Amino acid sequence: MKISKIICGALAAVMAAAFAGCSNGSEKTTLVMATNAEFPPYEFREGGDIVGIDVEIARAVAEDMGLELVIEDMAFDSVIAAVQSGKADIGAAGLTVSEDRLENVNFSDPYTTAAQVVIIKDGSPVASPNDLMGKKVGVQLGTTGAIYAEDIEDATVEQYNKGFEAVQALLQDKVDAVIIDREPAKVFVSQNEGLKILDEEFTVEDYAIAIAKDNDELLEKVNSSLANLKSSGKLQEITDKYISAE
Ligand code: GLN
Repeated sequence: MKISKIICGALAAVMAAAFAGCSNGSEKTTLVMATNAEFPPYEFREGGDIVGIDVEIARAVAEDMGLELVIEDMAFDSVIAAVQSGKADIGAAGLTVSEDRLENVNFSDPYTTAAQVVIIKDGSPVASPNDLMGKKVGVQLGTTGAIYAEDIEDATVEQYNKGFEAVQALLQDKVDAVIIDREPAKVFVSQNEGLKILDEEFTVEDYAIAIAKDNDELLEKVNSSLANLKSSGKLQEITDKYISAE
């Protein structure tokens, strides 16, 4: 019969298309996170593992999506580019939301309020961020701290690859102060004698997860996972595990 032949032919075509869809669809099983594991307590190495607040948040997001989290550790100033190029699905690196970065990537809803603070040596004449004028300031390459430090009048800004290297430079009197995010600052100060953090913050900012501009689907999924983490108290639990209350 002519008609049944046509129907058969059409069915075969549909099935072939469906099959092709299955076989060439290398079904995504991982969520790749770009980070720089030099930023305790958000991401750092412990034994052979990369752990921290961002890692746990990203793992929870991946779990919600039924995916396995894969961490790509890279230089901090490569994280945004990795997300932009699709090398990574998300950037989770204590990333501050900034206008400049928003030109290249999207950001999820913020998951924490953070701050840039000033680390000095005990006995330093620097008593507030205003005193940084004309001073030598150490920062980490590519960070918001590095960008804002450029605005300090007459200051010389020394860039280091890792926040910890900027702190080493302060200990060796190569710089007068370090501008860095508060939580890593607390960790570095606790690990070294003779350092303190100024009470007055340099800036207040938000951390969020970076996602490629065209990936609205992932943006929505990440935001809904973050909302769940917030409402269930899990985000607070993760934070409390790594940051002790003052
Ligand atoms: N919050 C800072 C920034 O986004 C520093 C982040 C980091 O060093 N991992 O630039």
